[in-house]
Amino acid sequence: MTTTLISTQASLAQGFVSLVGAGPGDPDLLTVKGYRVIQQAQVVVYDRLVSPEILALANEKAEMIYVGKKLDYHCVPQDQINQILVDKALEGKRVVRLKGGDSFIFGRGGEELETLAEQGVRFEVVPGITAAAGATAYAGIPLTHRDHAQAVQFITGHVQKDGKEIDWQAAAQSNSTLVFYMGLKQSGYIADKLITHGIAEDMPCAIIENGTRREQRVFRGNLAQLPNLAKQAQSPALIVVGSVTSLHEKLDWFNIKH
Ligand code: SAH
Repeated sequence: MTTTLISTQASLAQGFVSLVGAGPGDPDLLTVKGYRVIQQAQVVVYDRLVSPEILALANEKAEMIYVGKKLDYHCVPQDQINQILVDKALEGKRVVRLKGGDSFIFGRGGEELETLAEQGVRFEVVPGITAAAGATAYAGIPLTHRDHAQAVQFITGHVQKDGKEIDWQAAAQSNSTLVFYMGLKQSGYIADKLITHGIAEDMPCAIIENGTRREQRVFRGNLAQLPNLAKQAQSPALIVVGSVTSLHEKLDWFNIKH
């Protein structure tokens, strides 16, 4: 609590940016700290995947700036987003930069903070529940399990566009659950590469669409079926590969109507 008071006082004088992870969808998955800083914000700069219920927590006088992003399409270019954060902070404002999931997991949070650091703007990071943790929890898929997986890898499915290839050999090691973000359009490529590197075609996998939201859907099958499953699913969705996904049938609790 002491640290909180200090950072709040400093922010009044100099401007301050809180980089807040909003969680994957269900607004109740926002952290208590995230809730508090959103309520105190004078400016909220937010992305497309942030739930309207979370945006509604902001003060009605707060300036709300939408910089939404879609795959392959940035509503506002990244350097302009960085500049908005710097400008608002230098005006002395208390700024919340609100992103879906966790800002440091495929969220470009690091890039935005580097700019703030270079410009001498003070900031803090409020972590959020990343989609891999939230969506699998709501789908009844434990990412690790003593009988199934001793490791988990979060991987971007956006590889080819970014021009950086995944280390498929490392991804295909046994006993590891793989979670692909932004992988829906690349599902055929992902399945091919994993099979080529030794994962069995009948390895169980799942696609979780709209994880933690009321409209969540889970598609289950095996690796060879992944491209067909992906045709039925819509964004935002995660691809999960590994035998833990077979626990979904037993542990599903969220989609069951009581
Ligand atoms: N920083 C975010 C990820 C941003 S990248 C986080 O930590 O969760 C965007 C990708 O996240 C989407 O393409 C999708 O793969 C995944 N994603 C985000 N929200 C999701 C949700 N509710 N259900 C399933 N996948 C989701």
